[in-house]
Amino acid sequence: MRRISIFGATGSIGQNTIDLVRRDPAAYEVVALSGGHNIAQLAKDAREFRAETAITAHEDRLEELRAALAGTGIEAAAGSQALIEAASRPADWIMSAIVGAAGLAPGLAALKQGSTLALANKESLVCAGPLLMQTAARYGARILPVDSEHSAVFQALVGERIEEVERIIITASGGAFRDWPLEDLKSATLAQASSHPNWDMGQRITVDSASMFNKALEVIETKEFFGVTPEQIEVLVHPQSLVHALVGFRDGALMSHLGAPDMRHAIGYALHWPDRKSLPVARLDLAAVGQLEFRAPEQGRYPALRLAYDVMARGGLSGAVFNGAKERALDHFIAGRLGFLDMADVTEDVLAQIEADAGHIDDAMTLENVSRMDDLARRAVDRRMAEKAG
Ligand code: NAD
Ligand code: MG
Repeated sequence: MRRISIFGATGSIGQNTIDLVRRDPAAYEVVALSGGHNIAQLAKDAREFRAETAITAHEDRLEELRAALAGTGIEAAAGSQALIEAASRPADWIMSAIVGAAGLAPGLAALKQGSTLALANKESLVCAGPLLMQTAARYGARILPVDSEHSAVFQALVGERIEEVERIIITASGGAFRDWPLEDLKSATLAQASSHPNWDMGQRITVDSASMFNKALEVIETKEFFGVTPEQIEVLVHPQSLVHALVGFRDGALMSHLGAPDMRHAIGYALHWPDRKSLPVARLDLAAVGQLEFRAPEQGRYPALRLAYDVMARGGLSGAVFNGAKERALDHFIAGRLGFLDMADVTEDVLAQIEADAGHIDDAMTLENVSRMDDLARRAVDRRMAEKAG
């Protein structure tokens, strides 16, 4: 029996993970499940798998969670400290699927156990890649990528040496607006940005896919995870989302990974690694697909992508500023206070402003400094919003 925990269990990645676990319940002992406002789902899953503990991110929902778990013997807890405590409970495999920078502290706590962290929470690598990688190395923990592109790269690298890699190409569907005229993007609404042509995901990453902020995060994730240079990372628009990534080697060979757009593939690979087990994902019929399309990302259409390369050139804590500003700008877009294209503008301004104020953004990469930068960035976005309103 493997002891497993799932952080962000009630979300899209979390529920896909649970779907796989449910197919072989005798193989797993569930330690901790975490969620947010969906207390009913969290309690239902905690009961089904007889988890040791269930944690909601929100302290004001603790009583409700307690009531939903009454009589089961399952512990109920709430808040960010409780998440860190739960991530420190011994487990063999821990899924990090909280959305946003909030996933960083539980992820670090999980790594300190020296076990395996399946990392869907790309934001933590963007904010604090070196800190995560060094913590894993120091405690003998392993990080397995769960983002589909990074899982694809990881699989293409099995048996290969990273020194022989010339370039890594991650594909992008182009999101909801890939075929929209540029001038219409300004007035794109939340509803329009919330439907993805190929993938079924949480709302925030779906909007980030439309703006390419998701791909921007993934470019940085590639650098941090695989230790390649920014110049080695390319983005290729591939509307069908069947080729997830390609790795180019110094002899010119390209190894690619293809699969149906179903996150259970990447999750299952991380769950069963280093083995491969049968997964309930559709098998590709390439004869039926007929053609695979590729094109270069249109210059000017995706300012977020350009920002990702700026952030990598700046280094230090600028990833934390970038991600914090982007998350806060997205909050304002979701609330209807900010336009679709303004998200990239505001993020770019905040990056420049915080760098100018601080003189540099290269303080030591500790959890405290990362959190401070994240907070500064969010407050800088709010100040801009207030100025605009006033
Ligand atoms: P989601 O919104 O569906 O679920 C997010 C989960 O995090 C929920 O359980 C929610 O309760 C919890 N959560 C939200 N805010 C929190 C906070 N402040 N503190 C603690 N918990 C909180 O998101 P998702 O689509 O499942 O994405 C999860 C992560 O996986 C993200 O980092 C995303 O970028 C990454 N990812 C998702 C997909 C996908 O297909 N959905 C693909 C690749 C990577
Ligand atoms: Mg991805």
